[in-house]
Amino acid sequence: MIERTLAIIKPDAVSRQLTGEIIKRYELHGFKILAVKKIQITKSQAECFYYVHKQRPFFESLAGFMAGGPMVVLVLEGKDAIKRHRDLMGATNPKEAAPGTIRKEFGTDIEHNVVHGSDSRESAQFEIGYFFSGLEFQP
Ligand code: UDP
Ligand code: MG
Repeated sequence: MIERTLAIIKPDAVSRQLTGEIIKRYELHGFKILAVKKIQITKSQAECFYYVHKQRPFFESLAGFMAGGPMVVLVLEGKDAIKRHRDLMGATNPKEAAPGTIRKEFGTDIEHNVVHGSDSRESAQFEIGYFFSGLEFQP
């Protein structure tokens, strides 16, 4: 099934100049980049993006981190893109991530884990729409 998923190269990765390295991995794994842009969001915009976590203890810190510098957001397309992208990212905690995954290789800690990926079709639809309009898509 051809799917679309939202990827974010988080502010920790952008500031460490890992953007190109991470995008290269998306392409090597066969994802097509339909849309890409570099933006910095406000803390309230980050809170809205992560609204599902609003009751979690890490919510405030997470929103501050995501608003703390520019990020690169992308729409990736490919076969079973949502799960394949999550597999390429690795577990949330870099210390528990499988060898060869992006988070294992570049993540610092459970918050500063360098990348985001949608975890379901529903979240992909919300997250892509949060950052991109249809006009920004280039097949
Ligand atoms: N996070 C955190 N502490 C935690 C769990 C998550 O700071 O105990 C951060 C981390 O940056 C993570 C994001 O919150 O990527 C969203 O958490 P989620 O459980 O959705 O993990 P993901 O889907 O990103 O693997
Ligand atoms: Mg998540």
